[in-house]
Amino acid sequence: SDGDDGIAVQTFTLEQEQELRVETPARGEIKLKLVDGTAEVFGAEIAVGQSITCVSGRKLAVFTYHGATIEVRGEVEIAYVAGETPMVSYANTHSVLNAKRVAAASENSSEAEGPRVMCVGPTDVGKSTVCSILCNYATRAGHAPLYVDLDLGQGAVTVPGTICAAPIDAQIDLEEGIPLEMPLVYFYGDLTVNNPDYYKHIVSRLGTMLDERSKANEEARAAGCVVNTMGWIDGVGLELLLHAREALKIDHVLVIGQERLFGQLQQKLKGTDCQVFRLQKSGGVVERTPEYRRASRDRMFKEYFYGATGELAPASQTAYFSKISIYRIGGGPRAPTSALPIGQAPSTDPMRVTPVVPSTSLLHSVLAVSHGKTQGDLLTSNVAGFIYITEVNMMQKSFTYLSPCPGELPSNVLLSGNLKWLGEDVK
Ligand code: ADP
Repeated sequence: SDGDDGIAVQTFTLEQEQELRVETPARGEIKLKLVDGTAEVFGAEIAVGQSITCVSGRKLAVFTYHGATIEVRGEVEIAYVAGETPMVSYANTHSVLNAKRVAAASENSSEAEGPRVMCVGPTDVGKSTVCSILCNYATRAGHAPLYVDLDLGQGAVTVPGTICAAPIDAQIDLEEGIPLEMPLVYFYGDLTVNNPDYYKHIVSRLGTMLDERSKANEEARAAGCVVNTMGWIDGVGLELLLHAREALKIDHVLVIGQERLFGQLQQKLKGTDCQVFRLQKSGGVVERTPEYRRASRDRMFKEYFYGATGELAPASQTAYFSKISIYRIGGGPRAPTSALPIGQAPSTDPMRVTPVVPSTSLLHSVLAVSHGKTQGDLLTSNVAGFIYITEVNMMQKSFTYLSPCPGELPSNVLLSGNLKWLGEDVK
């Protein structure tokens, strides 16, 4: 039916343990409201009367343990009720993990660690969704786990091309996503791993920071972490997963939807103190097309610079080449020779830090602002944030950039990779 304002309104009644799966069209937005009962979206509870806005392309499920009435306003791509979901098994997984948190928290003077969990599987099986559910359930049980995202292409924390960790101390906001206040971010600089040594290096750095955090803070130690991974699971991809498992001292690996990977990991991890579990893939998970992935990456960049709801007004600023240093890590095959000093051959050392001579090829690049002070620091430093180059002026020897923070950059040491964003197209 249509509401008073002419917008389509549909009402769905869910029985216990059912979910309403909704896809928002590529252009347009819809609103979901819990009219009656209890419900949650990927583990985040919604209150009766609360309305959630879903932006273009968003796909989600409203699940209820006890029954609910949901109102959907706006034109949907699709909306249907499903009775078969793996939610109960996900909740049971949470109970196992939470028991370990409670035990770790109650042991006095102990070194006892909470669970360190890693979700693995091919792309589009619901890894990120399971991570959200587990983090949300943990916060609802009073713990604040660290959410770690190792997925370069579809990471959910800052911008694509990075690996990040952020403490989750409240349910993930259904409209704004994971809070950006205190993420620990390492810059990889590309959407796929073509320099496995450097990727492993930053994952190991993140592991060290995780251990330091555990040592310094008992609550953090008991809460543990939930790690999302890339969907690359064969060959080098599998090697990277096993490396991350070790570097982050993961003790629970959750394999979603792939028996073969489950078997492989069980075999590889035999004799370690790591347990491998298999979780069912939800029938609601939607396969994403390459266009959809590109659009969601563009949205991540846009949200970083303009805010989730467009609330930031990033200032356009100018930097002179003489005042900044730009570096690139590794001799990846895609490093343009134009980015190297004249006469220097592209390096093949994966960990080599090379100065980048500013040129017009920086246009539309997203660069990281490193906490590293010297060239030597760069490999081990995390980054403060990102800038987006909107103009390069070779006459003035300067470039213009957007930064979400007004004022001077926290550092004049920048890292460049292969991240480009055609910002104007998505505004
Ligand atoms: P992965 O991390 O394995 O690539 P995601 O967790 O990102 O997969 O899920 C893929 C897409 O499916 C996302 O857009 C997500 O919101 C959607 N999705 C996941 N579970 C459901 C569900 N039960 N109902 C509807 N959409 C879902």
